[in-house]
Amino acid sequence: MSKPILKNVTEEIVHGLVRFLLHGLEYQTFCDCDFCQMNICADALNHLPTYYVSTSDAREEAYLTLKSPENIELINKKIIIAIHTVGKKPNHTI
Ligand SMILES: [Zn+2]
Repeated sequence: MSKPILKNVTEEIVHGLVRFLLHGLEYQTFCDCDFCQMNICADALNHLPTYYVSTSDAREEAYLTLKSPENIELINKKIIIAIHTVGKKPNHTI
C-alpha cells in the first residue's frame, strides 16, 4: 500500500493552469513572478470548491472528475478574474 497523502486536487489543477495562462500570449502583459502566481492561485482557490484526497488512487480519480470540460471552464473563469484582480494591485515591490 502506498503512503497516505493530503492534497487539494483543485489546488494542483489551478496551479498548473495559472502557470500555463500567464505564459500564454493573451496574458503576456501581466507579471508572472512567483509572488503574483501564488497570489492569483490563492485568489482563484478562495472562489472554488476544495477537493481533498488522502490516497494516490483517489487523486487520480479526482483529476478525471475535475478535468471535465465544464469544470475546467469554471476554473479558468475564476483564474482569469484573479489575474485581473492581482494585475491591478500586484502584491510585491519588484
Ligand atoms: Zn509579480
